[in-house]
Amino acid sequence: MIKPIPYGRQHISDLDIQAVIETLQSDFLTQGPKIAEFEEKFASYIGSRYAVAVSNGTAALHLSMMALGVDDETNVIVSPITFAADGNGVRYCGGNVYFADIDPETYNIDINSVKNLIESMPEGFFSGIVVVDFAGRPMELDILRALTEENDMWIVEDACHAPGGHFFDINEKRHNCGSGYFAELAVFSFHPVKHIATGEGGMITTNNTQLYEKLKLLRTHGITKDPAIMDQNHGGWYYEMIELGYNYRMPDIQAALGISQLSVADANMQRRQELARRYNKAFENTPIKAPKVMTNGLHAYHLYVIQVENRKGLYDHLHANQIYAQVHYVPMHLMPYYKNLGFKEGDYPVSEAYYNKCLSLPMYASLTDEQQDYVIEKVLEFV
Ligand SMILES: *Cc1c(COP(=O)(O)O)cnc(C)c1O
Repeated sequence: MIKPIPYGRQHISDLDIQAVIETLQSDFLTQGPKIAEFEEKFASYIGSRYAVAVSNGTAALHLSMMALGVDDETNVIVSPITFAADGNGVRYCGGNVYFADIDPETYNIDINSVKNLIESMPEGFFSGIVVVDFAGRPMELDILRALTEENDMWIVEDACHAPGGHFFDINEKRHNCGSGYFAELAVFSFHPVKHIATGEGGMITTNNTQLYEKLKLLRTHGITKDPAIMDQNHGGWYYEMIELGYNYRMPDIQAALGISQLSVADANMQRRQELARRYNKAFENTPIKAPKVMTNGLHAYHLYVIQVENRKGLYDHLHANQIYAQVHYVPMHLMPYYKNLGFKEGDYPVSEAYYNKCLSLPMYASLTDEQQDYVIEKVLEFV
């Protein structure tokens, strides 16, 4: 069956199902050996020193902000064109969100806009920045890092769109998205539309030992059984709650699925690259603006976002043909919640212009050539 075609979806193999069944038959449904194995394998795939599995990507952002000490006096820069969780993580901790506009070609946060924002405020005003590798296009973190270092700011990389992506820095050195070389912390999501699916699920990667220890504590109520950091010790049963943490654990059932999914991540990435090349070719010399091809790295193509004049018309035409294209994203500063905090239309013109024309076409590893040809046919028929 070629229809319906969503914009993204999971692919669950027999091996995935087998891995979950084996865990269901084991002694551990949560907090068992699969979590540690998934963390180790994910860290090795990404090239970071540590990985901490959590219940979802939003929890990963919340814990990241907590671990970095965000509170109601903390000001953080975020892109308006990303999923709402990037700003919300800051807000959960009481921090203040400031937006900087995006780059009109890459759709990532624009470093000049970040620089201008920093310079418009007193020295030391901003503590950090959350940047997204938008649609899977790696943010050039070496350039951002130079700016944040000057201003004593941390970086959290939202790499939810980009596991498997990489870029080359100005010295031609390769950096995987989420590797922790430039950013203090990076977050990932395993929601079914992302590269790796566990149902709900998330991961935080880092190279920083202190942050790693803190994240592990916060993920499970702030409770420890480690005698080295406890005030007292009454015996084998004893534990202490030393921080106000949460239950943000990932179950072993899901970690087993994640391990299995990770084993085919490279093959799936190749398929996404192939699909992107086929779309790019089909849209040459048409009114469709395809995503800018990356020459200094690997775009992970979580999304394939086009820009088109009559976006609503094309969206409706595709939906009428059971092609469920989507819009990523409605700018965050235009959400009623953020408008109530003082943001308004016109604040970030590049983001708003992007939003008016953007459309995400179907992009996932199990999309067949036949399905993609049908999508292309329907797009070109309309434009
Ligand atoms: C999916 C996503 C999140 C949130 O992840 P959940 O697992 O759904 O909580 C955060 N940021 C971006 C960019 C995402 O795409």
